[in-house]
Amino acid sequence: MIVVMEKGASQEQVQHMIERVEGLGLKAHVIVGTERTVIAAVGEKREHAKESLESGPGVEAVVPILAPYKVASREVKPEPTQVNVRSLSLGAGSVGLIAGPCSVESEEQIVSTARAVKAAGATALRGGAFKPRTSPYSFQGLKELGLKLLAQARDETGLAVVTEVLSTDDVELVASYADVLQVGARNMQNYRLLEAVGNSKCPVLLKRGASATMDELLLAAEYILNEGNPNVILCERGIRTFEDHTRFTLPLATVPYLHHKTHLPIVVDPSHGTGHAYLVADMAVAAIAAGADGLIVEVHPDPERALSDGYQSLNFAQFRETADRCRRVAEALGKRMAPAEVLTR
Ligand code: PEP
Ligand code: MN
Repeated sequence: MIVVMEKGASQEQVQHMIERVEGLGLKAHVIVGTERTVIAAVGEKREHAKESLESGPGVEAVVPILAPYKVASREVKPEPTQVNVRSLSLGAGSVGLIAGPCSVESEEQIVSTARAVKAAGATALRGGAFKPRTSPYSFQGLKELGLKLLAQARDETGLAVVTEVLSTDDVELVASYADVLQVGARNMQNYRLLEAVGNSKCPVLLKRGASATMDELLLAAEYILNEGNPNVILCERGIRTFEDHTRFTLPLATVPYLHHKTHLPIVVDPSHGTGHAYLVADMAVAAIAAGADGLIVEVHPDPERALSDGYQSLNFAQFRETADRCRRVAEALGKRMAPAEVLTR
């Protein structure tokens, strides 16, 4: 249920209603909007809860939340959520550009990539230190050394760091280096991991599972929100279909669909979504045109020699051109995207 407070309801009245909600055994999520404050009361259904809350001081109405997800829903919060961390600003008119290698491989690789993507207008650096690989014999990531190298690249460029956490055991460690915790497609329905990242203070980038529906993605986000972490970024990264001309099938209708259903920002991953470097730029531009609040793109100094996902990684020049094209579309839509630095040579 949503307890909608009257315009100008006092702080005491809001606090009183939070206590009433909690007294019914429900969790209270307070959303302070530009017009009014609402309290989402979530939990198992209680007899007569609606009637009992309706009579509270400063309450305008108590309405049921129709969507299966609650705190993630637009019904609870009509204004878009903007996630801000260091250099990264995503949502509500700000387009964020997250770029970097699939895996952190060396100091030289990650620092040179951070400098190049920043110069091209990226606002965050991606790079996997813990890698979820299909085969146990593939490169598994540099683990804590990779996190240290990401932190070094952040110190040198000021870029926020986005990196994946694979297991509940590693949340504290990864959060001590990262600015945004990535939950990968394979872990989208790892509910204990979702709770653990929900308990951290770090924003979370939640990737869609390759066979997950929109409701399943939004309910996964709900697990994180329900633990009290409001900074969730959803990511469309492609799904598994009968098609095999691309690594996954990248459905861009999910972007406007999600914008209708949730206030959370949506980013698109055209790298995993296509699996081919030559398709990335066009799908990145299309994602921005579809209303994405950001992109996460794989970039490598020498894609042919990458230890993972080189075939879908852009080199520095390709990334700069992609970012320039995306920026033109974003600006045409009246959105903000960071400028590129002018190259002097
Ligand atoms: C990645 O971002 O490198 C990754 C493994 O992505 P996904 O979880 O979408 O496969
Ligand atoms: Mn990858």
